[in-house]
Amino acid sequence: MPRPIQATIHTAALHHNLTRVRQAVPDAKVWAVVKANAYGHGIERVFKGLRGADGFALLDLAEAERVRHLGWRGPILLLEGVFEPRDLELCSRLGLWHAVHCDEQIDMLAAHKTQVPHRVFLKMNSGMNRLGFTPQRYRSAWARLNALPQVDEISFMTHFSDADGPRGIAHQMAAFSTAAEDLPGERSLCNSAATLRHAAAAGVRADWVRAGIVMYGSAPDFPENNADHWALQPTMTLATRVLAVQHLQAGDSVGYGSRFTADGPLTIGVAACGYADGYPRHCDTGTPVLVNGVRTRLVGRVSMDMVTVDLTPLIASGMQLGTDVGFGSEVTLWGRASNGSMLSIDEVAQAAGTVGYELMCALAQRVPTVVDGAV
Ligand SMILES: *Cc1c(COP(=O)(O)O)cnc(C)c1O
Repeated sequence: MPRPIQATIHTAALHHNLTRVRQAVPDAKVWAVVKANAYGHGIERVFKGLRGADGFALLDLAEAERVRHLGWRGPILLLEGVFEPRDLELCSRLGLWHAVHCDEQIDMLAAHKTQVPHRVFLKMNSGMNRLGFTPQRYRSAWARLNALPQVDEISFMTHFSDADGPRGIAHQMAAFSTAAEDLPGERSLCNSAATLRHAAAAGVRADWVRAGIVMYGSAPDFPENNADHWALQPTMTLATRVLAVQHLQAGDSVGYGSRFTADGPLTIGVAACGYADGYPRHCDTGTPVLVNGVRTRLVGRVSMDMVTVDLTPLIASGMQLGTDVGFGSEVTLWGRASNGSMLSIDEVAQAAGTVGYELMCALAQRVPTVVDGAV
């Protein structure tokens, strides 16, 4: 028997979260962002749940090929555009739409031989300072693109740095609106946080939203709001089982570095999940975890293949050690337990000083993953 650890991808939850995005922006077309192997879920595993989107957005050309291979004939957008000239051949062949964020990409297009002009998204750097043309250079980039026979329709995009926080999007909206004003074409501005928090505001044109984390049931603005607030459902469960039980006495310590010492008798379970499975090593004593669907906490340090969990709340709730809880008990690291209890990946991420995005993306290859297929 393999180790009892398993990840489950919830098709119905993906479908539900897409519906939530549609409710938030009823008039927008929705890019389901499936970069980074669908935020660690697996592109093939999320496809059924997300195929109701208007298009798929990603970065990696091999991932675009996988989406086409699944039979998707609709739009696919390369969010960073092409990296070298021959990537344009694949765009022509597979009908990929692509961002254009720098002069070098326009040069490549100008030199590209194709029968089929490309649909492109011209990217503005409106303040994030990663990719895109500055507002000052935006119109000349557009004019250059617009003159190329290799280019079909031009759309306009930018990306917000603070849609999830107090600074908001107004400063970037102002830069974008001024420079892109009356340029003809569709706009794609909002990521998940902007879609939920700002897309309804006046002046935020959302022809296409780019919804990533919200599709995977994580609140883009946690802890200000949680997944329940936005009525999102977790799309990934990471679960394992108890391998061993230890009975500690006052003064006994647990795990590497003896980071946790019991101050009285304590029963702990040893669960088959560690940082080599993608569970963050930065989680420490106190990180929430479910055992048999009951909320408890980690004790001691996360090791490569194991974590140790406090069984006190289970015993206190009346479960009998050895019969109701013990070897083989279900341990839910995040997602939903068999009894229906939920543990949000955002809470676990917070305990590790990071965000749900990173935990999903870090799910390790060695974790067997199944799709819970009901829609
Ligand atoms: C990843 C990405 C998104 C999605 O961001 P979320 O916060 O996950 O919604 C949107 N736009 C671009 C350009 C991205 O790279």
